[in-house]
Amino acid sequence: LYNMVQDLKGNIRVYCRIRPSFQAESSNIVDFIGEDGSLFILDPSKTLKDGRKLFQFNRVFGPTADQDEVYKDTQPLIRSVMDGYNVCIFAYGQTGSGKTHTMSGPSGGTFKDMGINYLALTDLFQMSNERNDIINYDIYVQMVEIYNEQVRDLLAEDKTDNKYPFHIHYSIHFHTSVDLNICNCNDDGLRLPDAKLRPVNSTADVMTLMKLGEVNRAVSSTAMNNRSSRSHSVLTVHVHGKDTSGNSIRSCLHLVDLAGSERVDKSEVTGERLKEAQFINKSLSCLGDVITALAQKNSHIPYRNSKLTLLLQDSLGGHAKTLMFAHVSPEADSFGETVSTLKFAQRVSTV
Ligand code: ADP
Ligand code: MG
Repeated sequence: LYNMVQDLKGNIRVYCRIRPSFQAESSNIVDFIGEDGSLFILDPSKTLKDGRKLFQFNRVFGPTADQDEVYKDTQPLIRSVMDGYNVCIFAYGQTGSGKTHTMSGPSGGTFKDMGINYLALTDLFQMSNERNDIINYDIYVQMVEIYNEQVRDLLAEDKTDNKYPFHIHYSIHFHTSVDLNICNCNDDGLRLPDAKLRPVNSTADVMTLMKLGEVNRAVSSTAMNNRSSRSHSVLTVHVHGKDTSGNSIRSCLHLVDLAGSERVDKSEVTGERLKEAQFINKSLSCLGDVITALAQKNSHIPYRNSKLTLLLQDSLGGHAKTLMFAHVSPEADSFGETVSTLKFAQRVSTV
């Protein structure tokens, strides 16, 4: 089994993805994208000579890169989950930079331009079928959001409805308001034993659940206006495999659409909005600290400083593999946020 694993050259990788420009008139701050993962950005307020900044990543995807091209590079990582590796994939960046596009794809429920979540699960099902006569796999998903350091189940259903799992009318409100406990991993390997664990057998199952998750996220948003950009969403795929001689493997794949990384102007926000911003800043910087500590092979890894890193602890470090997509927009008015995203990503990368 384990010799099927590809050498993935390092356990932490950082990719940059630049979305297309939506403003025809705006100047483009992307100066050059190298095949080797280098990226030159132009400061629009400076001259060409003084305003060039170089960043280095494992790879940079430009505005014309499509979903399949991005997935192709991610695929070996996804496939290693079937061999027992834990994998985390993060989408980082300011709101509007393309995180949800990369992870989920455009909303609307068509199969066009589907993102990593869907392509990954399709691949896992296909591999499970291919290996059918040597290993028997069961695949489950959980989906939660972390908002203001509280973990909420996005796949909760109405308790009174037992026609589990599909084609039912889910009642959405009350389960999603519970802050779930994060446990130390026990025998079943579940850090969130109270979050609904849904068996999935096909991409159609997954589509249904992703839609439910999306609805639950949207519903909780209306009260406080577009909350989805201010919470982290974590889709976890649990893979349980058993081979013919009774050996078993357990692994998980976490697909994380992070809260928007934009700085809010503290002088302008108060109350709820300020609190949200502080929670987001803290948890994103904790994530950065953890990945940096892992990249530098520090002896102490500060997992406990945020719910997100605590939840993902077994899937960050050790033999686990991490991939961060740093999303940026190419427009001049995003220059400040773009640079801060690229700096963050550069810090967590080992290249
Ligand atoms: P975020 O989740 O970071 O807030 P979105 O994924 O919602 O950003 O992207 C913002 C808008 O830009 C959406 O309308 C999305 O469809 C579009 N978009 C983002 N990235 C791309 C891309 N690579 N190609 C085409 N459209 C994109
Ligand atoms: Mg989004």
